Amino acid sequence: MLTNNLGFPRIGINRELKKASEAFWAEKISADELEKTGMEIRLTNWKFQKDAGIDLIPSNDFSFYDQVLDMIMTVGAVPTEYICLKNFLRNELLEFYFSLARGYQKEGYDLPAMEMTKWFDTNYHYIVPELVPGQRFNYFLKKPVNEFNEAKEAGIITKPVLIGPLSFLLLSKVRLKGFDRMEMLPSLLPVYIDLLSDLQKSGAVWVQFDEPFLTMDLSDVSKNLYKVAYKELKAEFPDIKFMIATYFGRLGNNTSLALQLPVDALHIDLTRYPEQLEEILRVTPEEMTLSLGVVDGRNIWKNDYKKSLGLIQSAIKQIGEERIILSPSCSLIHSPIDLAAEKRDKGIPEEVIPWMSFAKQKINELYELRNLSLNKDYTSQSIFIKNQEDINSRRKSHHLNNDNVRNRIENIGSVLQTKRSNFQVRKLKQQKELNLPICPATTIGSFPQTTEVRGWRQKLNKGEITTGEYRDLIRNEIKNAIAWQEEAGLDVLVHGEFERNDMVEYFGEMMDGFAFTTNGWIQSYGSRYVKPPVIYGDVSRSRPMTTEWINYARSLTSKPVKGMLTGPVTILLWSFVRDDKPLSETCFQIALAIRDEVLDLEREGTRIIQIDEPALREGLPLRKDEWDDYLEWAVKAFRVTSSGVDDRTQIHTHMCYSEFNDIIQHIAALDADVITIECSRSRMEFLDVFANFNYPNDIGPGIYDIHSPRIPSVNEISDLLLKAAGVISIDKLWVNPDCGLKTRRWEEVKPAITNMIKAAKMMQKKSIVESREQ
Ligand code: GLN
Ligand code: ZN
Repeated sequence: MLTNNLGFPRIGINRELKKASEAFWAEKISADELEKTGMEIRLTNWKFQKDAGIDLIPSNDFSFYDQVLDMIMTVGAVPTEYICLKNFLRNELLEFYFSLARGYQKEGYDLPAMEMTKWFDTNYHYIVPELVPGQRFNYFLKKPVNEFNEAKEAGIITKPVLIGPLSFLLLSKVRLKGFDRMEMLPSLLPVYIDLLSDLQKSGAVWVQFDEPFLTMDLSDVSKNLYKVAYKELKAEFPDIKFMIATYFGRLGNNTSLALQLPVDALHIDLTRYPEQLEEILRVTPEEMTLSLGVVDGRNIWKNDYKKSLGLIQSAIKQIGEERIILSPSCSLIHSPIDLAAEKRDKGIPEEVIPWMSFAKQKINELYELRNLSLNKDYTSQSIFIKNQEDINSRRKSHHLNNDNVRNRIENIGSVLQTKRSNFQVRKLKQQKELNLPICPATTIGSFPQTTEVRGWRQKLNKGEITTGEYRDLIRNEIKNAIAWQEEAGLDVLVHGEFERNDMVEYFGEMMDGFAFTTNGWIQSYGSRYVKPPVIYGDVSRSRPMTTEWINYARSLTSKPVKGMLTGPVTILLWSFVRDDKPLSETCFQIALAIRDEVLDLEREGTRIIQIDEPALREGLPLRKDEWDDYLEWAVKAFRVTSSGVDDRTQIHTHMCYSEFNDIIQHIAALDADVITIECSRSRMEFLDVFANFNYPNDIGPGIYDIHSPRIPSVNEISDLLLKAAGVISIDKLWVNPDCGLKTRRWEEVKPAITNMIKAAKMMQKKSIVESREQ
């Protein structure tokens, strides 16, 4: 029985990679210095895994930016518009590499960054390969073999990790319609052959091919190509051991396909889908080894040895221990590095620490699990006993079981029996209350989080200013923001969210059941890392979280000010979640806490309340047959937050994705009075949905792209607005940017919003004239 890892975090325990890459981008260090940092991180990781007793240690799991971008470079699939730059920067490979990820605006070039999107259902983002019809590939970047050799020199034989050819194609995009990316397999395979022969020459014994698409719905064409590709590759390299890695999902209807592939080992995720083991064991061919993903690579909980050993034992019984490999469920890049690096005096409560395990601890768990599973008498081993003590102390903790919260969850049905009337009735009542013009202008919530504002929070945390001083500074910022919004002519104002470090962390910090790591960083993309909150217990709110700020903002103006909240689905999906209960239940707990906040805001006089759900779309399960179940509880959770208010209180929501086509009914079922969405990037392409689906409530398609520093002109915004008015009736239309403005500077925000308001006013005039003419 071998132990195996699929990938180790590459950011460095003190975020060395971030610091070095950013210094390189700022031209403060040279490419060589950055390379050196990369090498140190790799060597540290390999040595750690070797010392920890891992047999199959991954290489090429390191990346300066993203593993898909590395693969794009490896197979020479650089999009044509960058070829010229590639020649120009031929002696500066790293600089060229980063320009694909970040764009290049120098020396007369003006190249945008390549598209980036979320990696399956994680919060990691990858660079999308862009292929053209007739795409040529060539074995360009020798990174996999270079890293293999580097480890070999340090005395460690590693298992290179490659994105498999099918998943590489399935991850990519072809811009021209009518061309199928899968047709490019015959031109891609020769590059894999070159690459593998290079690895073979260097002495690679195992190679890992990541093929996560085997856990998704596949077309018959793709299924067939899987067989074609691996048959061809294996025929060329009978002596290399192939491992195919699947993760994040179950093989489901691809089980027999996966088991037919002529490979030596198949890796499966048993933390999310332990039940798939039985079926797979039954049909695993004799020549195949199974890699059991028993240690959760996506969460921070200590492995329950009893549970894992149960799975391992049943595998041993059926196929024998020689054919079993023990692994984490997926690459550990989705997990923080080291629990031992957590500061003990703040951050995670002392009681919770023994319940947790980060990447390094997970590696040790694999080693211990192997030893235990080879010992017939494992239940009497002290390692096992200690593990079960920790697992039980978590299970029995009073934090996990708050009776009050449980009672509320049991009665959640009654909460959903809303007294709210249908939208038409509500709309009339709200209009009477709010007296808004046609095409009201508003923003999404946040205003610039300047260095100054963030500095105040740092000072507060360090004890350099008092809570009172901090409060006054924030209030002053709110005051300025309200004054500016009135002057600019917005119809519905916001307080600006200056007091929030992050839209999830802010609420998490104020609710029970949440904990925060001090060093639990995870790569989100490039040098951007996040530190997700940990939901460890039943969630509840003991005091109002936002009313004070909103009341203050309202006291400064006679215009309506929106109360701003983060929705339960987003709070859930952007945190590490409990694994001892269904996601839906934790989501309902958060929803009840947010509901209390909504009702507090309403009671104190807030007439418009926005509950943001930017993550709703990305939470969709990988398999379509699981969508309905997810959407049902996600929509229900939103309705728990909003269903308690009076007809006259207007509920807004905001979402960051415009790709709603396949879930538009569910978006409508949220029954928010107003929804604002992102779309100016896609040139309002999303509007097609509304041509086919009569969206019942009010809607504000974002018409100013806040992701770019550009200031759109009045004409440009007017055009987009007219386009929107073509499919959405004007009495349902709101005017707003496409997301919060926290990442922008006031110098950009002020002129852009001013232009947006001018466009809104033009639209209002036009509609008044038109209605008179009728
Ligand atoms: N209200 C939030 C803001 O304006 C919404 C952010 C988001 O959609 N991600 O910042
Ligand atoms: Zn947004």
